[in-house]
Amino acid sequence: MINNKNKKTVGNVTVYFKTSQFDTFEIINSTADQVAKFVKDRWDLDIPYNSRIYVMDSWLKFLFQSAPVYYWPLLSLNLAFTLPAMKRNWKSVGGWAKRYGRRYVIGIKEKNLITIKGSELGKKIFISEKAVEDKIKHIIIHELTHLCLANHKKPAWFNEGMAMLAVDKVLNKQTVRKDTLDLLEEYNNDTAKKNLLANYIIGYWFVKYLDEKEVGRLNRILSRQNIYEDVFIKEISLSFIKYRDQVIKYFR
Ligand SMILES: [Zn+2]
Repeated sequence: MINNKNKKTVGNVTVYFKTSQFDTFEIINSTADQVAKFVKDRWDLDIPYNSRIYVMDSWLKFLFQSAPVYYWPLLSLNLAFTLPAMKRNWKSVGGWAKRYGRRYVIGIKEKNLITIKGSELGKKIFISEKAVEDKIKHIIIHELTHLCLANHKKPAWFNEGMAMLAVDKVLNKQTVRKDTLDLLEEYNNDTAKKNLLANYIIGYWFVKYLDEKEVGRLNRILSRQNIYEDVFIKEISLSFIKYRDQVIKYFR
């Protein structure tokens, strides 16, 4: 094996990188530290023990490097199905999160492979970052927040909202386009469930509202396990439409 594999542990996170990827590692290192402090202080969340971040220069290498060896036969079998999607997404995606049993894994592209131009979906949601460093930080904060919630069994929109809000808070700026409120206004109970974009838009604004206006309720949601969508609606105790309108009115 070439002797340029490094592994450094920061809190509960171990970062795997090559010597040539040291600048990417440094950004990850400081950001992971900030995220751990922020989610603990604000939401009493922890980054799971045994979390890993791999700096990627190829998705195929990442796949096999990050998975435990006993997953390899399964990965190989599935490759025919996963290959087209991973190939397609590799260009536009900066990073992703995976879970193998108790191992939580994030892959993030090395700095010189990250492009500022996001995916088509991303462009509708996010104000584009101007510096590659900020984009890396953005991805790390988002994905690490997902890891913190991996065992919480919350609805997908809630997880996305938490991850997106954490980015705003840690980077101390607005990263989501304000005109997504117009999209939010169009969703109803039905369309909200059938639309991938909706998870992000609803999640962000609902969670932001909870965090700013109803923090007791947010903490209650976070402290309980297994809160599925219907329970959450009960927790909010308003219909989707009524809550949506309340949120829009507050942020406009
Ligand atoms: Zn996400």
